[in-house]
Amino acid sequence: MTTRRLFGRAFTGGSIRNDVLVTIRDGVIAAVEQTAKAPDDARRTDGVIAPGFVDVHVHGGNGADFMDADEKGNSRILEFHARNGTTALAATTLSASAQDLRRAVAAIARSSAVRGAEILAVHLEGPYISPKRSGAQDRASIRLPAIHEINGLLPIAPDLSWLMTIAPEIAGAQELIEYFRGRITFSIGHTAADYAQAVAALEWGASHFTHLFNAMTPLDHRQPGVVGAALESVDATAELIADGIHVHPVVLRIAALAKPHRIALVTDAMRACGMPDGDYKLYGYDVTVAGGAARLPDGTLAGSVLTTGGAVKNMVELAGLPIEVVLPMATEVPARIAGVATRKGRVEKGFDADLVLLGSRLDIEGVIVRGVELE
Ligand SMILES: [Zn+2]
Repeated sequence: MTTRRLFGRAFTGGSIRNDVLVTIRDGVIAAVEQTAKAPDDARRTDGVIAPGFVDVHVHGGNGADFMDADEKGNSRILEFHARNGTTALAATTLSASAQDLRRAVAAIARSSAVRGAEILAVHLEGPYISPKRSGAQDRASIRLPAIHEINGLLPIAPDLSWLMTIAPEIAGAQELIEYFRGRITFSIGHTAADYAQAVAALEWGASHFTHLFNAMTPLDHRQPGVVGAALESVDATAELIADGIHVHPVVLRIAALAKPHRIALVTDAMRACGMPDGDYKLYGYDVTVAGGAARLPDGTLAGSVLTTGGAVKNMVELAGLPIEVVLPMATEVPARIAGVATRKGRVEKGFDADLVLLGSRLDIEGVIVRGVELE
C-alpha cells in the first residue's frame, strides 16, 4: 500500500481552501482534511491542488489522432494531454467510413497509457450530422442514422461510456436517439436544426450540445436557433471551446453566466496540438496550423490546438470569470457528462487521485494520475 500526502491550498467543496491535507492511497483520495499542522511527510505545494481535468471532446494531439487507429499514437495523445492537466477524456472520432470507424473504436478500446489520461468514453462526432453544418468533417462520410451500425460499434468498446454528436433534424435521428437513450449520451451538434427541432431532440433524450455556437444555428432574437435552445435549457449541458478563436471571450462569459454548472470546457484538440505550426491531416483533409488556429484551405476552423489548461486560463483571463466558477467546467461537469461523477472531477474522499497543481498564474505545475505524479 503506497500512501502520499499533499498539503496546501485546494479546490474542494466548491471553493479554494487553505491548509488542506490530501492523503492518497493506492491511486485513490483516502482523505481530505483541513489542518493547521501538516505531518512531516506531507509534500507542501505552492499552487492550488485542483481535480484533474476531464475533456469530453478531444481528437488528438502530439502528432496523433484517434482516427489513425494506432495504439501507439493513442498513447502519445493520452500522455500529452495528461501532461497538460487532462487526466481523463472521451476519445473523439470524426465522420468516417463504417470500416474506419470500427478500426478507430477498436484501437481506442485497446488503448491505455500508464502515465497518461484515462479513456472514459468514445465520443462519435458524426457521421449522422448535417452536411450544411459539417465544419471540417469529411462530407462524403456523412450519412443517415442507422441503428444497426451503432449496434455493431457498441460491443467493440463494452467498458467505455458513449457520446454521440448528432443533427436531430435529419431523417432517422429521432428513432436512433430514442432507441439508444440511456446507453448513449446524445449531443446536439453539427446541425442546421431550428429552435423547435432542438427542443424536440431534448425531449427524445438528447442532453448535451457539442461545441456551443460552432457548427449550429445561431441565436437571433427572433429565431433562437440551437444556441437559444441550449442556453434556455436548465438541464442540458453544453461544450465550449475556450481558445478565444472559436468563440469570442465575451460570448464565453455570456454562456457561462447563462448556464451555471452546465458548461463543459472542451479542447476539440486535433493532432497538431502541442506541435509546431505547419501542415497536418484531419481524416482526409489538409489543415494548416498558424497563430493558434487550425484551418482548412477555405478558412474553416478544423478543431483546435488548445489544451484544457489553456481553456481554464482563458476563461479566467479572457472571459473574466472567477477560478472557482471555471474549475467545475473542466472537472465536475464533464465528469458528469461522461458518467463518472462519483469517482472523478472532485478533490474528495473516495475519488480517483487525479490532481492538477495550478500555479499562481494558472500554469500547470504538476499532474497526478491515479496517484502517480508525472515527470
Ligand atoms: Zn470535434
